[in-house]
Amino acid sequence: MTLVSLQMPVERNETGIALAVAILAQRFGDRFSAAAALREQHGHTTTWLPNQAPDGVVFAESTEEVAEVVKVCAEHKVPVIAFGTGSSLEGHVNAPAGGISVDMSRMNRVLQVNADDLDCVVEAGVTRKQLNEYLRDTGLFFPIDPGADASLGGMAATRASGTNAVRYGTMKDAVLALTVVMADGTVVHTGGRARKSSAGYDLTRLMVGSEGTLGIITEVTLRLHGIPEAVSGGVCPFPDLESACNAVITTIQCGLPVARIELLDALQIRACNAYSKLDLVETPTLFVEFHGSEAGVREQSELFGEIARDNGGGEFTWATKAEERSRLWSARHDAYWAALGLRPGAKGVSTDVCVPISRLADCIKATMADLNEAGLIGPLVGHVGDGNFHTLVLVDVDNPQEIAAAEGFIERLNWRAIEMGGTCTGEHGVGQGKMKYLTREHGAGLDVMRAVKAALDPAGILNPGKVVPM
Ligand SMILES: Cc1cc2nc3c(=O)[nH]c(=O)nc-3n(C[C@H](O)[C@H](O)[C@H](O)COP(=O)(O)OP(=O)(O)OC[C@H]3O[C@@H](n4cnc5c(N)ncnc54)[C@H](O)[C@@H]3O)c2cc1C
Repeated sequence: MTLVSLQMPVERNETGIALAVAILAQRFGDRFSAAAALREQHGHTTTWLPNQAPDGVVFAESTEEVAEVVKVCAEHKVPVIAFGTGSSLEGHVNAPAGGISVDMSRMNRVLQVNADDLDCVVEAGVTRKQLNEYLRDTGLFFPIDPGADASLGGMAATRASGTNAVRYGTMKDAVLALTVVMADGTVVHTGGRARKSSAGYDLTRLMVGSEGTLGIITEVTLRLHGIPEAVSGGVCPFPDLESACNAVITTIQCGLPVARIELLDALQIRACNAYSKLDLVETPTLFVEFHGSEAGVREQSELFGEIARDNGGGEFTWATKAEERSRLWSARHDAYWAALGLRPGAKGVSTDVCVPISRLADCIKATMADLNEAGLIGPLVGHVGDGNFHTLVLVDVDNPQEIAAAEGFIERLNWRAIEMGGTCTGEHGVGQGKMKYLTREHGAGLDVMRAVKAALDPAGILNPGKVVPM
């Protein structure tokens, strides 16, 4: 297998593309661009997967404009690819058959905050940080926090999660309803603001995680949460990965409502120390945080302290001040960039698997042994409370042996997670990179996904060559 074979061949419709480009250029004026650098920016840029640029980029400003673009593309059978902030990691925004990228960044208005109902409605281009900034004085917050400041439309489209998912869930839990432009340009609302509904098929959850292959999300209705009265957190070192994993497993099995519990291996701690100017002991470490009342947080922290000690954990360092906690969590969020600094010039391949919590220690142990045997450098980080972890394999892409070793390692990791009852992706999604694992993971379920795709996008114009091999 080579790098390029990760991408499915999809044919270009040259005539249709030329027509769509001409029509959209005229309609959108300076909000349409076919400049090479901008097109490249709207292809995949985050990892070692090759960049496949679209033929043009439209900066849409409303649901109606997105619908107009999709109608033009439908008429001329041209691919149309939604673009949030481009932080996805598996070639999601690439244009293997060319086509039009719809950049959602100008759809960045918070439309409603319904504080009494703990929900809000935002345009799809609003980013998670922008929303939390907007909510700052309301006593509410939006908890889902992928490392990047991604758009909420992109996060819904990839069913994203982050460090808080162990307590607050993922985008599948956070999204109450969506406004979606379908493949023929029809605009659909998938639900209202009710907390639950049994009214028909759940189109919201069908769209969440569909990665722009079933429709383009233009508005998102989200659940919000009250900012907890008390927050406490800190870091706890462990002698090895296994004992850290065992502490996590016990924490979750005890039902301790930890808000965040993140594992960083010794190499990742070294990278974070250098990048974020920390001075943590270079050993496997858990970053934890508890949310609740003063008394609740104290009780949770004590119980966690006991669990950590029983599993060989060292001295806990509490971050009592909000600034200290934010410094630690910023370092955690910057782990990806920190890891790249371990091998300047190398490209990072971010893996992402998730297993049932009882298999976490087994999966991580086997994966680290495999990584060593393959002779690869790959610091490990994980949202381990969910059984989800990543290694960022640092690869010299000019060295074919290294590429082959990395690809072999990644394949084995995915098969291992699936065999353990887990999944080839806990949060990053399928894009181009994970398509080949879906047959083993879903079996006949993949045919049902194909039928859904064929029914909703019969011409195959929405983000072709992604998610479901047709
Ligand atoms: C440093 C770093 C750390 C990360 N950490 C995490 C993490 O902890 N958890 C996690 O889940 N992910 C993580 N990611 C991956 C990434 O941030 C998420 O996948 C994110 O949800 C993508 O959002 P985006 O706006 O960048 O979407 P894009 O990358 O622009 O698009 C992603 C996919 O969604 C589709 N899409 C985008 N907008 C829309 C829309 N409005 N309607 C329909 N489809 C749309 C695109 O076509 C594409 O298929 C990380 C990435 C980086 C670079």
